[in-house]
Amino acid sequence: MGKQYNKCPAVFLDRDGTLIYDKNYLSSPSQIKLYSYAAECINKLKKAGFKVIVVTNQSGIARGMFTIKDLDKIHKKFLDLLKEQGAVVDGIYFCPHIDEDKCKCRKPKIGMVVQGSKDFNIDLKKSYVVGDSIRDYLLGFNMGGKGILVLTGHGKKQQKKIIQEKIKPLAICRSLNQAANFIVRDNKNVKES
Ligand SMILES: [Zn+2]
Repeated sequence: MGKQYNKCPAVFLDRDGTLIYDKNYLSSPSQIKLYSYAAECINKLKKAGFKVIVVTNQSGIARGMFTIKDLDKIHKKFLDLLKEQGAVVDGIYFCPHIDEDKCKCRKPKIGMVVQGSKDFNIDLKKSYVVGDSIRDYLLGFNMGGKGILVLTGHGKKQQKKIIQEKIKPLAICRSLNQAANFIVRDNKNVKES
């Protein structure tokens, strides 16, 4: 008991093309470049009461392009860069697989957010996913929460493919900056209604 009452919402953020510039299969810490607004957005969302958790598909591992050890170094650098700007994420989850592996974690499958919800006592129904791929907003839908597409990274190309999808994003935002503002407003409306 008790735990149910203290459940908090989260914003699950995609990494490449959402928080950092997309490099195809980023494999070295030196390739990481944060978007100028990344740290500020994380802090804005945390201030609004959300856990902020990064969920990233890293199929480059299954494809043999880099190792989990390389990814650890990349994430250490990523966290260091955010910290320099005064931002700390609550967690990072990655899927090392490809679709053919039929794992439970590759977005839009919900494995990573389910793990996050257990680790941080999160209410997925009140939570959001933001990313530059159709996989990201579908993850939001699949977890029973909300999904937002951003037009940075692969977002513009992905936007053209949405027409073929039965499920649409809750919102399409120019960047994480707009998405964070949208979420804070949307969450406020939910609380008040
Ligand atoms: Zn996986």
